[in-house]
Amino acid sequence: MPERIAVYPGSFDPPTNGHLDIVERAAKMFDRVVVGVGMNRAKKTFFSDDDRIALMRDACAGFPNVEVRGFDTLTVEFARKVGARFVIRGIRALSDFEFEFEMASMNRRLAPEVEMVFLMTAPEYLFLSASRVKELAAFGADVAEMVPPNVEKRLRANGKKRGLRTGATEHTD
Ligand code: ADP
Repeated sequence: MPERIAVYPGSFDPPTNGHLDIVERAAKMFDRVVVGVGMNRAKKTFFSDDDRIALMRDACAGFPNVEVRGFDTLTVEFARKVGARFVIRGIRALSDFEFEFEMASMNRRLAPEVEMVFLMTAPEYLFLSASRVKELAAFGADVAEMVPPNVEKRLRANGKKRGLRTGATEHTD
């Protein structure tokens, strides 16, 4: 039987525990999961391509059937290139659904042989997003429960470098 390979594409700017939860679950469903870190996109990222790849690679090191690669093509082209017939996306709220539904319809038109697989977020990660993590970290808040340890370390180092760690206490309602 051919290997069941899936790609999990995203910006991962930076990787969060929500992303890692999807990786972990996908790794149980497929023989091999290739996490695709989107590069050179119109979307401006806080962390560089190399940083996002390195952070994700490090965070996924414990999963033997997960590999992390950068890609700068359409998702379906990336899937074809690595021989994947499945594309995984995580869904949090209804707002994610509309965007994902549109993308999935487009992908189906481009590559009907590639199946989109949507995994619903675990409830504890429902309100967790990379942008929220960045915002909190910039104010010096503790994000240890939201991101893998390597990302937490990196965010803490960034905060110290910029002297932003006192920001949160200056803001009062
Ligand atoms: P993109 O820019 O491609 O949306 P993201 O890095 O924001 O990249 O997200 C990558 C994938 O992970 C998307 O499918 C997104 O819905 C999913 N995702 C993001 N945060 C969470 C979370 N907290 N729980 C589950 N899935 C998530």
